[in-house]
Amino acid sequence: MIKENAIKIMNLGFVCDHCLGRQFAKLLSGYSNDQRGEIVRRLLAMEYEAKPFKLDTSNFHGFTFRRKMKTRKPGICVVCKNLFEELPKFADQAAKILKKMDSKSFMVGVKMNDALAMAEESLWEKSGIAYCEPIKSELNRELGKLVEKKTGKIPDENRPEIIVLLDLQNKQIETLINPVYVYGEYRKLVRGIPQTKMKGHETVEDIIAKPLMKTTRASSHTMHACGREDRQAKCLAWRPFVLEINQPLKRRINLKIIEREINRGKMVKVRNLRYSSRKEIVEIKRKKVEKVYRLRVNFENPVRDIQRVGKIVGVVKQKTPRRLLKSKPDKLRHKKVKSIKWKKINTKIYEFEVRTESGLYINELVSGDKRRTKPSISEILENPGELKQFDVVKIFV
Ligand SMILES: [Zn+2]
Repeated sequence: MIKENAIKIMNLGFVCDHCLGRQFAKLLSGYSNDQRGEIVRRLLAMEYEAKPFKLDTSNFHGFTFRRKMKTRKPGICVVCKNLFEELPKFADQAAKILKKMDSKSFMVGVKMNDALAMAEESLWEKSGIAYCEPIKSELNRELGKLVEKKTGKIPDENRPEIIVLLDLQNKQIETLINPVYVYGEYRKLVRGIPQTKMKGHETVEDIIAKPLMKTTRASSHTMHACGREDRQAKCLAWRPFVLEINQPLKRRINLKIIEREINRGKMVKVRNLRYSSRKEIVEIKRKKVEKVYRLRVNFENPVRDIQRVGKIVGVVKQKTPRRLLKSKPDKLRHKKVKSIKWKKINTKIYEFEVRTESGLYINELVSGDKRRTKPSISEILENPGELKQFDVVKIFV
């Protein structure tokens, strides 16, 4: 069975030890494919000397037969075109790049080219696939071993810091640097700063990212926060976030120092900075947290019977606010107001503290948005009110 198969393979032309042995990769453990190939080739050479059979004799070049036998000089491997001989060169290239970075772990990937995939296919048509391993996985493993040896860095399939990609189409090594994720909690102490990316504005994200970008020498950043925040609102509660830092050249940094640096600023404060993961971003984004807002509302007329406002507690039906209809689909939401407290500033101005489910639009809770939000504070008090300012004072994480 092995002999018949090996003869079929070797009749295709010269096949290197890797490509020969790989067709028997599932037999015996503890050997590399080129070792398997060597064993099979040696056995076949002995058979051949005992009783010659039809075969491309370049496959036996270099053996010293006791009988006088002629072998042809080997060309290049009909399957891999001697690609395995080039692996040390690619490993050197990868090592050179990896040594510039302070990453500890890496993973190797191979981008196949069509010619190689087809060569493998036509080999399998002849030899079958009973014991074979795909060439891609052998390339992965062998290149990985070489890179590990040259750099001392650790192969990690699950959470590699760097991916070394052997691109066979362009015959080159590419490196993909995985992001660094930093968890933290922030407070925004001033109004008027947007939470995340906004052209021409400094954002909470920018303020937090600045020292991190400088230290990691990264290319870009994205903030994933627990809930969106109105630009005009202060956030006096600690809001959790994960900052994704893309393509960092340096990833081991002292987050305590970063924290101190951010906190030297007056507008945004952070605490509890630590390393995080992509998984935590999903968790933070998915979390539905209740919040307490402090609102200042100016009413058109002097307020009578303020205690009526307690009726707002319960379910509020809210259609997408008119101001957002351009960018969001018109949808009806049911959101709960859990509690409301009030404080009189003067007859026309009140301060409220409202505890709500996440996703309730505060502006419209006050104004009613032309009856698109029901009930609303204006509706209940029969007195048009306007939200003058509001702050997030508590986030129930
Ligand atoms: Zn080969």
